[in-house]
Amino acid sequence: AIPLEDMDRRHLLHPHQWGASPERTVMVSGRGCTVRDVRDREFLDVSGAGNWACQVGHGRAELVEAGARQLGELAYFSGFFGFSSDKAVELAARLAGLAPDGMDRVFFTSGGSEGVETALKVARLFHHRRGEPDRTWIISRTMAYHGATYGSGTATGFPPMQEGVGPNLPHVVKVSPPYPYRAQEMYGSADVTGYLLQELEETIQRIGPQRIAAMIGEPVMGGGGILVPPDDYWPRVRELLSRHGILLIADEVVTAFGRVGSWLDSPARGMAPDMIVTAKGLTSGYAPLGAVLFRDEIAETVAGGDAYFFHGHTYSAHPTACAVALANVGVLEKDGLIERAHVVADWFREDLAGLTGLPMVGDVRIAGATAGIEIVTGPQDATPVMAGAVTAEMRHRHAVILREYGPTVVLSPPLVIERDEVRRTAAALTDVIERLRP
Ligand code: PMP
Repeated sequence: AIPLEDMDRRHLLHPHQWGASPERTVMVSGRGCTVRDVRDREFLDVSGAGNWACQVGHGRAELVEAGARQLGELAYFSGFFGFSSDKAVELAARLAGLAPDGMDRVFFTSGGSEGVETALKVARLFHHRRGEPDRTWIISRTMAYHGATYGSGTATGFPPMQEGVGPNLPHVVKVSPPYPYRAQEMYGSADVTGYLLQELEETIQRIGPQRIAAMIGEPVMGGGGILVPPDDYWPRVRELLSRHGILLIADEVVTAFGRVGSWLDSPARGMAPDMIVTAKGLTSGYAPLGAVLFRDEIAETVAGGDAYFFHGHTYSAHPTACAVALANVGVLEKDGLIERAHVVADWFREDLAGLTGLPMVGDVRIAGATAGIEIVTGPQDATPVMAGAVTAEMRHRHAVILREYGPTVVLSPPLVIERDEVRRTAAALTDVIERLRP
């Protein structure tokens, strides 16, 4: 028996039983794309530290040193009650520089859920301050992941997030996501954008355009299974929302900082967002930190001049987390890792091409340094159970990949992954899926 594994079972509450096996892997160290567990087994990390986070790879000296230096300098001081820190200010300025023009204000959180929560509150408050207090409804999408708190969890389009813990956040309504592979089955039409725009307009009319605060969406859905929308989807959604005075919140917790090939993905997809929520890749997971970016008009309305918004967390703008984020952004830039996501995409296209022909592979979707492989038993017959089996079998072969809540398994490696590591992953995955029996 391995004592730490027994203690893990006895003392840690693990709400998820993900995958087919109840076995847990207790990790202890990592370098680059390799991690080791308590049994001294070595795993290839094709998951971004198990959760889409680790852009720069494990053990990067620049981040370690920045964190250690800041712990010695000033580990923590409040980011509000009239206080700030040099690192929080520098990071906010850096992020404003990466954001589209006119998006200069940042609010820091401890992660993605708090960021989404912040954006949802700000959306309602913005309208309230402008004399439209009835704008309280939030539109989100089925299959989306936005977090695990009450607000962000209600916006999440995965029913187990809401079941048995209600009542959930009121005034949240869900529309369908863009899912080209399942268009016929979901929409009865191949015109993905056309169908979704009509559904959105009908939803807005049913609730009443004057009662809706905002829509929230990931530019490319991550947890939902790497769902890449048609090019005209976001521009047309944005146009429709603007016509009704509805704000748009881009949830870039997964997509930002290179994951899908850009610093921020929503501007390039034509979302023209009013707020952008980031986390994960902001620190490569080395420290818990999220950042919400606001269009200036939004920031001014809720917290400019005499306007006052009572909101914040003890660890908002945590100096050590901000120092680590600054070092992380520095490495992403210095090593050209945003561009490298496109190289990883090319390797995925090359090495995963063979998967498309396998009977149990329905679709392969690649967006930058992430790939989704949808496991099916027949034409478009989804199998979440088999996706779990693939992830578990890959773990037995010492590769960590992601299994989300649908039928899609996901690769989301550190952006520093090497050619041979992608090849090995693709070969193992091909073998595992070939041996699957429905
Ligand atoms: N939004 C998206 C798109 C996410 O994938 C996640 C986390 N998986 C969150 C929000 C929530 O972030 P956190 O877990 O840091 O609270």
